[in-house]
Amino acid sequence: MRDRLQTTDRMQHWNIAINTTCVLCNEELESVCHLFFGCWFSGQIWRKLIEGLMQDDFITDWNVLKVLQSNPRLNPTKTFIFRYALQATMHTVWTERNARRHGEQPKDIGCLVRFVDKTMRLRLLLVKGMGQQYLDEALITWFGIQESNGEAG
Ligand SMILES: [Zn+2]
Repeated sequence: MRDRLQTTDRMQHWNIAINTTCVLCNEELESVCHLFFGCWFSGQIWRKLIEGLMQDDFITDWNVLKVLQSNPRLNPTKTFIFRYALQATMHTVWTERNARRHGEQPKDIGCLVRFVDKTMRLRLLLVKGMGQQYLDEALITWFGIQESNGEAG
């Protein structure tokens, strides 16, 4: 959120030999805007996870997402989910990007979506266990979205 990630568009300022192509799509220059979620690969992950919640307001534009993150204009339950989902998706995409740069086997979109979904469920259950009542609603909302999505099953 503070734009501190060392994406390759930035690293090339001090390392000319670096490969600046996005390792997720292998097509475009890697930047923060591209990774979150201008890239068709990460954009698909974000779409599958959050389009059910955002519906017509669904967007992949990083600059808009940053603003939405501080003021999502959603009810408290959906706000909570939106922030957690954004955090978990960014973390997962960044981890996958690093894994690929280190030559690890690429994971596909479905696999990464299931991973974020699982992370979300665990987090919601964990926080719910700490006694926050409105999280029952958050859990039900999240399960409902992911079931209608039919991908994360
Ligand atoms: Zn890309």
